[in-house]
Amino acid sequence: MPAVPAPGTEAPSTKLSVVVPCFNEEAVLWRFDSTIRELLGALCIEYELCYVDDGSSDATLNHLRTIAQQHVETTRYVSFSRNFGKESAMLAGLKEATGDAVIIMDADLQHPPELIERMLDLHQLGYDQVIARRTREGDKPLRTALSRLYYRAVNKWVDVELTDGVGDFRLLSRTAVDALTSLPEYNRFSKGLFSWIGFDTVTFDYRNAARQAGETKWRFRSLINYGIDGMISFNNRPLRLAIYTGLSLAGLAVLYVLWLVGAAIVTGITVPGYVTLVAIVVGMGGVQMLMLGLIGEYIGRIYYESKQRPHFLVKETNGHLPRHSPAMAMRVRSEVR
Ligand code: UDP
Ligand code: MG
Repeated sequence: MPAVPAPGTEAPSTKLSVVVPCFNEEAVLWRFDSTIRELLGALCIEYELCYVDDGSSDATLNHLRTIAQQHVETTRYVSFSRNFGKESAMLAGLKEATGDAVIIMDADLQHPPELIERMLDLHQLGYDQVIARRTREGDKPLRTALSRLYYRAVNKWVDVELTDGVGDFRLLSRTAVDALTSLPEYNRFSKGLFSWIGFDTVTFDYRNAARQAGETKWRFRSLINYGIDGMISFNNRPLRLAIYTGLSLAGLAVLYVLWLVGAAIVTGITVPGYVTLVAIVVGMGGVQMLMLGLIGEYIGRIYYESKQRPHFLVKETNGHLPRHSPAMAMRVRSEVR
């Protein structure tokens, strides 16, 4: 529990940065910008909005340029050379943010802006991470059940605590932001990283809102891939599972052979059915492929980490992140070769 400021002491004024990853959000960006500015204006705090255009193919970047011209003092934007994914966009936003507290929000108004005040209040009490956890009210029952099952399974395996409904909508103190941006890994699974850095954390629930406009970028396949990322990003326990599975199968095979030999001694030689044989070959083949895939997944991660490529390339910005320069281009080109 963090130290609560003594009653009567004036809380230091906090500059708030709001980080907003945007990928093809032209339909909702204006509404988001005006809603959030109205709200932050009413709170009478110093703030900045850090938009990250994640390689959108629609008019998102144009909108951002216009917003930045209209609100020069309070808008920073970074535009990527292509779509690098939300994880990279969040990282760029966190690096760009200069505030004492940073809130990460989606551009589609699914994260209710009116919760910002509550987050700031909790931050003033000394919390480094204030997490808004969405309840699953209104979700499809199948999706809710699958999520519950997934989190129960994943928490048995990973070393960090992953909670259902907890996403990227949160306030981070400067300390927490610096901790996150100092983690250099290429494969970023933010849910795990947030949990991994620790610090004083508090969580409260909110009811999820529907997307205001545009469409979700999550397809079923990306959800599955995200799920696998969560399973293997934080430890090598699945590899241990592979060892145990191999050992158990080898043990079963020995027992089976003993049983066959015993049966042959007691009842005489019988002609074994090829069905068993085929079943075993296919079953074992499947298990071996699975284990190979698992090992390959870890090796793939090592491969990507060892390249030490940047998480994103900046095409355009009005902030302080370095733009993709000719020197950088040469480095990237020689890496591609
Ligand atoms: N987003 C992004 N890069 C991507 C996909 C999504 O920056 O490759 C942003 C998107 O613009 C939005 C946020 O991440 O602000 C959440 O995306 P979305 O609403 O599609 O996800 P959902 O709410 O359906 O989980
Ligand atoms: Mg959304």
